[in-house]
Amino acid sequence: MTALRGTGVSPGIAVGPALIVEHEVGPVFRLALSPEQVPAEVERLERALAVSADQLRSIKERLSREVGAPHAYIFDAHLLMLQDSLLGARAVEVVREQAVNAEWALRTVSESLHALFSEFSDAYLRERSTDLDDVIGRVQLNLRGAPGAPTLAKLPEPVVLVAGDLRPSEAAELDWDRVLAIVTDVGSSTYHTAIIARSLGIPAVAGLEDATRRIPPGGLVAVDGARGEVVVEPKAEALARLRAAQVLYRREEERLRGTRGLAALTADGVTVALEANVEFPEEAATAQQYGAEGIGLFRSEYLLGRGLRFPTEEQQLDVYRRLVEQMHPFPVTVRTWDVGGEAFGPAGPSSPNPALGERALRLLQRSADPFRVQLRALLRAGTHGPVRIMFPFVSGPSDLRVALALLEQARSELRVSGVAFREDVAVGVNLEVPSAAVVADLLAADVDFFSVGTNDLIQYLLAVDRTDPRVSGLYDPWHPAVLRTLHGIARSAAAAGRPLSVCGEMAAEPLQAVLLVGLGFRSLSMAPSAIPRVKEAIRAVTAADAQALAARCLALGSGVEIEALVRESLPTIARSAPVAS
Ligand code: PEP
Ligand code: MG
Repeated sequence: MTALRGTGVSPGIAVGPALIVEHEVGPVFRLALSPEQVPAEVERLERALAVSADQLRSIKERLSREVGAPHAYIFDAHLLMLQDSLLGARAVEVVREQAVNAEWALRTVSESLHALFSEFSDAYLRERSTDLDDVIGRVQLNLRGAPGAPTLAKLPEPVVLVAGDLRPSEAAELDWDRVLAIVTDVGSSTYHTAIIARSLGIPAVAGLEDATRRIPPGGLVAVDGARGEVVVEPKAEALARLRAAQVLYRREEERLRGTRGLAALTADGVTVALEANVEFPEEAATAQQYGAEGIGLFRSEYLLGRGLRFPTEEQQLDVYRRLVEQMHPFPVTVRTWDVGGEAFGPAGPSSPNPALGERALRLLQRSADPFRVQLRALLRAGTHGPVRIMFPFVSGPSDLRVALALLEQARSELRVSGVAFREDVAVGVNLEVPSAAVVADLLAADVDFFSVGTNDLIQYLLAVDRTDPRVSGLYDPWHPAVLRTLHGIARSAAAAGRPLSVCGEMAAEPLQAVLLVGLGFRSLSMAPSAIPRVKEAIRAVTAADAQALAARCLALGSGVEIEALVRESLPTIARSAPVAS
């Protein structure tokens, strides 16, 4: 028995035989062509590119049909990559310029694109090199005249799929009914395959580093997708423990799924809107499965992709429109680009402290274009349903004025060009910089709503880097300063009659969610899978009791005391909520 540990990226437990997937498309070698051979080689490459595009289109169609249109979005990105001048057209150029075979040309292009991607500091963007391999691997296969092979579309039996890197198009083609779990050497929770696995409810563990070497083909494997645990050839005892956990997990999932149709109401009848935070448009389907009443935060910068390229206005309109249509009649809140300076190209040395440097609206001084284009797309998407625009990283009224002036400019451009758009798309501020929280009353006059980004708000309020594990023990959502700040925001919003939400992780923790309700928050946005437990917590309390509890907490002097009081006052919810480490 061997136990491997990775990152649990999709919860659930499964036991079954391992199917190891390798990625050998065969050797690639360089052939020097005579000038007369070049046109035929170009034709061969162009044919393989066209066949690849057709295949991607049909995968996309199959996905749309069988899993829902949002999942197919990934393959739009693959198509775009394939058709990008840096890939297909460049490979054709290499064949022409260097008089080499198409395989070698593709390999050359792949190397230069990988070199480009490896320079990105953002892990998510670097991870997209997987998509590049996927697209190029497909063309290589088609060049070899083996368009159908290899096929994971028809598996002989239910298996635990073990892959170095399960590429998105392989995941899409998979015989899902026979995939018990997915285990990969690479990846994290932003990995496309992880997203698809979560959406399909298939347990998955990523980032295992050497699972493909350590798991024998056909060996029995037990996977715990929540704990990130993979047990190879488990002993009878471990197997029994995992099987028992599997039964409990299924029962709990069943029970939580049953809450989907229940209203998010406190025991004394106060409604709390529970919305979803999403990074990828395809997560909207998951949000709906968990009963989300809207998207409270779409982290739009994920649309930039690995090339850190801003999508065009039309591409964005298409994404936002689809999101709005899918979530109908609920609103979709799109946060404008929350990016660092790297998205605007090289500009000298990087900021000594990126969290306090040039980011989001502060990049307007470099170029307003990406923001203006996004605002135009959002205003246009407003004609399809309730879109809300949310500005991140606002520090006070002057930032907000600049952002609103840009929005007005986007409106007048659309008016001039005669394009249909919605004039009164709701506009809000993501309250996450302490100065903005302090002057929320001053901002209220100019916005339609507020949403508190507690992740950053706590980081800045307590001067604790949210990404540094060495100080994570100091990152304390229960801190009296956090509570007082949230209380102040709630009072400012109430005085101005502005709807108020929380879209940071505090909203996803059931005890903190109750405290937020007690402080006056009536909308909470969180990862879709957190919704059922938060809903349960809310249904178990009265808003009056939550308010009284919040008042008592506000009088306490330390995070330890506040957390203890909340746990003691809400014992049933506390039992099901994890103890903070
Ligand atoms: C936040 O800061 O709380 C937030 C919701 O946004 P992000 O985690 O993307 O910074
Ligand atoms: Mg933030």
